[in-house]
Amino acid sequence: MPQGVFRFPELHRLNVALSKMGDKNPRWKGDDVSYIGLHVWVRRNLLKPDSCEMCKNKVDDLDLANISGKYLRKLDDWEWLCRKCHMKSDGRLKRLIIRNKKTIITERDKSGRITKCCQA
Ligand SMILES: [Zn+2]
Repeated sequence: MPQGVFRFPELHRLNVALSKMGDKNPRWKGDDVSYIGLHVWVRRNLLKPDSCEMCKNKVDDLDLANISGKYLRKLDDWEWLCRKCHMKSDGRLKRLIIRNKKTIITERDKSGRITKCCQA
């Protein structure tokens, strides 16, 4: 550290940081938090398990899933799920399967690649 520069002791800086955490922070938005901001807050505060909370499979990447669909700032309204369980729980998997069933392949080229398809 260059001479002549004053720095507060590390313990003091740590205490100042701790005094401004969470709802004590001047930028705290409470329930007006954005979708992304809420996910960041939950990600920081909800312990991430080793496996999916629904199927118990161990996967490298777990999704943060909202349980109620209301996106509340309550940790018990969130869970860590694998992608498949997350898509099942919020209905995306069912919608994707229905959408894919409606797609009709009409033309393929010589190598078997789809060249034309349409929605039924
Ligand atoms: Zn799962």
